Amino acid sequence: MALPLTNKPLTAKPFERAVSSYCGWCSVSCGLIAYLNGDELADLYGHPADPDGVGSLCSKGIAYNYLHASPFRVTRPLVREGSSFRPVDGREVKRRLEQLLSKKVAVFLDRYFTLEEYALARSLGEVYSEVTYLPFNRTSDRPRLWREKKLVINLGVEPVSSEVMLARWLVDAAEKGAYLFSVGHRVGSLFQKARRFELRKPDDAVELFLNLLEGEGKEGRLLKELGPQALLLISQSYLESPFGNLLLNAVKRAVELYGCSYAFVGHFSPLPVKPLSAFVDELEQYEVLLLFGNPLTYLPDEKLELLKGKTLISVSYFPDFTALKSDIILPREAKGEKAVTNRGVGFLAFSPPFLKPRVPSLLPEPPKEAVRELVRSLGVEPERLEREGKVFYELPPVTEFSFPEEKTVRSELWVVKEELLLEQLGRWFTRLLPLEPERPLYAAPKTAPRLKPYFPEVREDACSAEGVLLVSPAYEESQPFNPSTRPGALPGRPGWRVAPLELE
Ligand code: SF4
Repeated sequence: MALPLTNKPLTAKPFERAVSSYCGWCSVSCGLIAYLNGDELADLYGHPADPDGVGSLCSKGIAYNYLHASPFRVTRPLVREGSSFRPVDGREVKRRLEQLLSKKVAVFLDRYFTLEEYALARSLGEVYSEVTYLPFNRTSDRPRLWREKKLVINLGVEPVSSEVMLARWLVDAAEKGAYLFSVGHRVGSLFQKARRFELRKPDDAVELFLNLLEGEGKEGRLLKELGPQALLLISQSYLESPFGNLLLNAVKRAVELYGCSYAFVGHFSPLPVKPLSAFVDELEQYEVLLLFGNPLTYLPDEKLELLKGKTLISVSYFPDFTALKSDIILPREAKGEKAVTNRGVGFLAFSPPFLKPRVPSLLPEPPKEAVRELVRSLGVEPERLEREGKVFYELPPVTEFSFPEEKTVRSELWVVKEELLLEQLGRWFTRLLPLEPERPLYAAPKTAPRLKPYFPEVREDACSAEGVLLVSPAYEESQPFNPSTRPGALPGRPGWRVAPLELE
């Protein structure tokens, strides 16, 4: 059950019916009320009784929920015929899928996957994802308690690109007088509010962060002094880098020493998934790849070659790079078009449908009991989740795990592959595209000239640290507007979001 509707409508627009649910486009899972005329979305509001969204939806959540009616959306199944695609009817596709999905299958899940999609993936084969699997609680406190912190030390977190509403609690903390310190490779919203920030290339940013955690410098001394009133924020990008285990060990030590709080911000899963690097290394052994989202953008050219002879099935909202390289394109159901269980920031959220499906449901449904089992595996009773809408799960804290020791890595140049403001929807949403029509590579003014001979599309960007080449995974080569660079075409280990850059 979602939250009850408000006594009075929040919209001034005419509508026929209202439905309460949760936004499923990031792990904040803000409560929402959808106002509908027939099957059309007349208006959309944040639910005022939801303590996470507190009556608001972010611009990303609003845009993504309107994806439902996007004119660019894939709305019917397509099958490759030579270099083009032919629409096919649902029955034919289901027949083909039944035969294909009984072969040796790997499933790749993107950051939007629900527990229902995870259960299906598990029933078909090995599961890979671009999100990071954390077997421990990704945050030691509920995010709304962050506003009470007196010190926030941030390594590379930009919630506006991943979980927008998380920024609210950090801004609240800063405005209530908390000392906010940010260090990272690009100026972001938490730099704007910071008492002090350091713009540094990744190895220098990590070194500074680790030194602070050892109690060095003003922020290190404050950390020692404020202990439980301090919060460490670490971005997913830095976990998916050569520094991942170094950071996990350092955070674990700091929590044990000072009793401070921690949170990892970005795209995470509390259920096991293999990382993108393993997908790239192991894809040769599969006959069929079932691909949610756009994972082929991460693959280097030689790995794309290895896909020849395999059957690729893309499950996609839009005809993106991965879809256009596939043999079968299946339209993907949008959030809001069916009941789903979302991975929240330390909780699960059950979102009832509020939009009429615009696309046929072609993949097999996972057994309902498999989804309930997953919910139970996180210590949550499925009946309680359906009744209450959102339930926190209890995973052990980071301090109960050990991580292999790793040496630090040094490089003059780094490549960073992480989302920018509009993510991929900006490419396909007519009103967002003009905001960021071209998506080149970015580098600091002093670094760009050095990179230009190798990457002619580099643009100067005063927000980036020197020594960093920045690319968004949403950049695509094969799409209808302003083609740009595929991250997989850049050097660096495909699974890493932050990697040393070697120029030949
Ligand atoms: S913060 Fe996340 S859940 Fe909330 S409206 Fe934005 S996208 Fe949706």
